[in-house]
Amino acid sequence: MEHFTSIHPYTGDPVAVYPLMSSNQVSLALSQAQWAYPEWSSSGFAERGRVLREVARLLREDKDTYAELITMEMGKIIGEARGEVEKSAWVCDYYADNAETFLQPEIIEAGYRKSLVRYEPVGAVLGIMPWNFPFWQVFRYAAPTLMAGNVTLLKHAPNVSGCSLAIAALFQKAGAPEGVFQSLIIDIPLLQMVMESGIVQAATLTGSERAGASLAALAGSQIKKTVLELGGSDPLIVLADADISQAVATAIQSRFLNAGQSCIGAKRFIVIAQVYQAFLEALQAGMDNLRTGDPRDPLTTTAPVARPDLAENLRRQWQASVQRGARLVRGGEVTGCRIKPGLLLDAVPGMPAFDEETFGPLAVLTRAADEEEAVKLANASTYGLAASIWTRDEEKGLALAGKIQSGAVFINSLVKSDPRLPFGGIKKSGYGRELGKSGIHEFVNVKTVALG
Ligand code: NDP
Repeated sequence: MEHFTSIHPYTGDPVAVYPLMSSNQVSLALSQAQWAYPEWSSSGFAERGRVLREVARLLREDKDTYAELITMEMGKIIGEARGEVEKSAWVCDYYADNAETFLQPEIIEAGYRKSLVRYEPVGAVLGIMPWNFPFWQVFRYAAPTLMAGNVTLLKHAPNVSGCSLAIAALFQKAGAPEGVFQSLIIDIPLLQMVMESGIVQAATLTGSERAGASLAALAGSQIKKTVLELGGSDPLIVLADADISQAVATAIQSRFLNAGQSCIGAKRFIVIAQVYQAFLEALQAGMDNLRTGDPRDPLTTTAPVARPDLAENLRRQWQASVQRGARLVRGGEVTGCRIKPGLLLDAVPGMPAFDEETFGPLAVLTRAADEEEAVKLANASTYGLAASIWTRDEEKGLALAGKIQSGAVFINSLVKSDPRLPFGGIKKSGYGRELGKSGIHEFVNVKTVALG
C-alpha cells in the first residue's frame, strides 16, 4: 500500500488520499525528535505550558473546522465532534496548569543529608491511536507526555490521517519547536524501526487487544515501557431499588453515543429480575427516539460507524449470539457503515455479544436473579475497563464497587473520562493509567537522588 484513503462513512465518498511515509522519511522524523528533545525537555513547565495553552486556544478558535474534519473522516455526529474538540482543549489547559505540581520533586527521609525523588522526562513517546475519538485520544496522551518534557510521534489510524496531520500542524502553529510533535503516516511494518530507535523510550496504544498484544511484544523485545488502553465490555448494573428512568436514560446515552464506538460505553446491561420488565419497557421507549442518518443533520442521534468492516463485525456478533439463544428484538440491520440501533435480549456468557467488545449501536441485555449474580455476571468478562451501578442505596453502591473487577466504577452516573480522574483498565482492557496525576507519571524517569 502506498497511500491511505479517508472515506466518508455516511456517503461512502473518498475524502482525501494520504501518501505513506518512506523509511527514509521516518528516519528523518526520528532524527528530528532526537534534536528537539534536549531543548524541549529542559525548557521548563512555563514554556511548555505556553505552547499547550496556545494549542488549546487554537482548538477552540477553529473548533468548527476540526469538527468537520472529524465528522468527514470517521462519521460521528457534528455536535459530538465539536464537544470532542472542546474536551481536547480542556486536557491541554489542565496539564498546562497542573504538570509542575504533579511532578514536584519529593523529599524522602532515608538517613542521608538529603534524599529525594525527581520526575524527569524519558525521551520520545510513540502514540498509537484509534479513529473513534481521533482528537481526544491524541490529546489525552500527548498533553501529559509533552508537559513532562518528552517529545512524541503519533501513528494514528489510517482512516483519520487528515486528523493526524491537522493536529501536527496545530502544534506547529502554536509554536512547538520542530520535532516536538510529529505525525507519522505509516503502516504497521515500519513501527519496528520506530520502536528500535534509541530516542523512542516508550509507547502508548489505544485500540484492540490484538494491536495491544502485538505492540507490547515488540516493545518488550526492546525493553521499552507501554501503556495499553484496549477497550472493554463495561457492565451497567441495575439493582431493584434503582431510579429506572435515570438508569435507562444514561444506558441509552452511554451505549449509543459515538454510534456505540466508545471503549467506556455500557456494553452489557445487567438488570435484576424484579425490575427487568420495567427497564426493558423504558429502554424500548427510549430507543424509539433514536434517529439514524446524516451526521451533519442536527436531528440525527446515531451516526454510521466508521468503517464497513466494523458494521459487519457487529452483525456477526449479534447473529452468532442469536444462534446461541439470544433474541434480537429490534434493529441490527447493516447497510455499509449504517446500522439500525439494535436490542439483543437474553445474552449470557459464551455468546459473542457478551464475551467480546461490541463496538457499535447494539444494546445487550442480561437478566440477573439477584445482586450476587449481577456481580458475578459483571465480572464474567475478560475485560475490566469500567462499570456503572444503579441503586438508591449509596452505601450498597459503594460496597458493590469494591467487588467489581474494573479500573473504574461510577454509581448512578454515566462513565466518562475526565482530565482530573485516572483512566484505564485491568485484565484484557490493558494496563497503566491515562489522565489525572497518574497519567503524567507513566512516562517519566522516577529518579532517586541521595546526598551522603
Ligand atoms: P486496531 O486496534 O487495529 O486499531 C487501533 C490502532 O492500533 C490503529 O492505529 C492501528 O493501526 C493500530 N494497530 C493495529 N495493529 C497494530 C499492531 N500490530 N501493532 C501496532 N499497532 C497496531 O482497531 P480496529 O480499528 O481494527 O478496530 C477493531 C476493534 O478494536 C473494534 O471493533 C473495537 O472493539 C476495538 N477498538 C477499541 C478502541 C478503544 O477505544 N479502546 C478503539 C478502536 C478499536 P492500523 O489501523 O494501521 O493497523
